[in-house]
Amino acid sequence: MSAMRVLVIGAGPGGAAAAIEMQRAGADVRIVEKSAWPRAKTCGDGISPPGVREARALGLALDDKTKLEVGEISTPRGARFRAGWRPETPWGAIVERREFDERLLALAVAAGARFDDRTTARDVTFGSRGPAVRLGRDATATHELFDAIVLAEGATGTLAPKLGFGRHHSRLVALRGYTRAIKPLEPQFGLYFDRDVSPGYGWIFPVDRERANVGVLVDERAVRARDGDLRGILRGWTATSAVARETIGPGPTYESLRGGVIPTGRRSRVRGSVYLVGDAAGVADPFSAEGIYQAMATGRAAAAALVEHGPGRAAERAYARALRPFDRNAAEARRLRMGFGFVIDVMGARAVKRPKLAYHLSSSGFFMKDSLPAFLLGIARTW
Ligand SMILES: Cc1cc2nc3c(=O)[nH]c(=O)nc-3n(C[C@H](O)[C@H](O)[C@H](O)COP(=O)(O)OP(=O)(O)OC[C@H]3O[C@@H](n4cnc5c(N)ncnc54)[C@H](O)[C@@H]3O)c2cc1C
Repeated sequence: MSAMRVLVIGAGPGGAAAAIEMQRAGADVRIVEKSAWPRAKTCGDGISPPGVREARALGLALDDKTKLEVGEISTPRGARFRAGWRPETPWGAIVERREFDERLLALAVAAGARFDDRTTARDVTFGSRGPAVRLGRDATATHELFDAIVLAEGATGTLAPKLGFGRHHSRLVALRGYTRAIKPLEPQFGLYFDRDVSPGYGWIFPVDRERANVGVLVDERAVRARDGDLRGILRGWTATSAVARETIGPGPTYESLRGGVIPTGRRSRVRGSVYLVGDAAGVADPFSAEGIYQAMATGRAAAAALVEHGPGRAAERAYARALRPFDRNAAEARRLRMGFGFVIDVMGARAVKRPKLAYHLSSSGFFMKDSLPAFLLGIARTW
């Protein structure tokens, strides 16, 4: 029997993870990426502890990176507490996306996947022999047949809407830039839920001791209410935040100041042997906008479903099952956002005095994605 032929569209963490797993399992994988590779990606560059775990499972150990062992969180009323990770995944890391994505994709190529950059997937049509994809530049585009497609086209991809996958439930927007610190940066994730960015947060992530990735994350509707002025929100936050003033100064200058969207939620993820993963599937966390871990995890899950069952109903069902925890987490995170400022204020004020509660809030709710009942039970225990 010949190997299953799979096309992976997009070489970000979602596509790379799927390609690594499928090629290692014996599929014949081709990856196409429209950008010249390696490419930069607008991102906070924060690989959470679950993200580090996921990368390691794919064969990418980030041991050469600064290990971010704790985080600092502040609340709208200005309380600050230390966050903690769980012992099984004790640290996260900051890795600029050009490097992270390049290293991950190299594992797929090392496993034997064929990779073409500057190659756009333009269209997908469905026939009795499986999906056919139009690949390459318009004038010289070729049609190729595959058994299945993993569509990892990211937040702004145009193929999923064309194929009738429908819109995302909602979108968050973020703006980030790199700047020099005015004092050595601590090896920690800094997440600041200050009033100026509520409902959302500002972040200061250390690329190294001197250079920080700084940004703000806000709900799309909240930005529209402020005339779409995301730069103004970032400027306002760094001017008023005590932490920002202490570490990067009140009016930092930025290199590569860029914004992007993070879509969350999508009704369907599989149609006719096309599997959506990562941002295309809308699986980023609607509370934190973390999406790298989710992209790798859903890429692996789609790969596992296809490898185990081959394209067809059984694989679709297996992938739908694997996505359930992400959807449950998303629904809970959306609910949490409604009472956002209040919840964070009340819990944060208490967490300052109760390290066990602080640890629980960060390790369970924010980063580790326990179910809501388990999260609430932990709060009751540590209150
Ligand atoms: C400002 C900002 C900050 C963020 N910070 C963080 C953070 O700190 N930590 C975190 O975990 N997440 C963060 N995220 C979210 C994270 O960046 C995404 O969730 C993640 O990149 C999703 O990975 P992906 O593989 O699905 O898509 P992407 O990484 O976007 O990759 C998609 C790829 O597909 C390619 N492509 C698209 N269409 C085609 C086509 N037709 N043919 C060929 N190639 C195509 C694109 O060129 C791209 O390379 C942030 C997002 C933003 C906007």
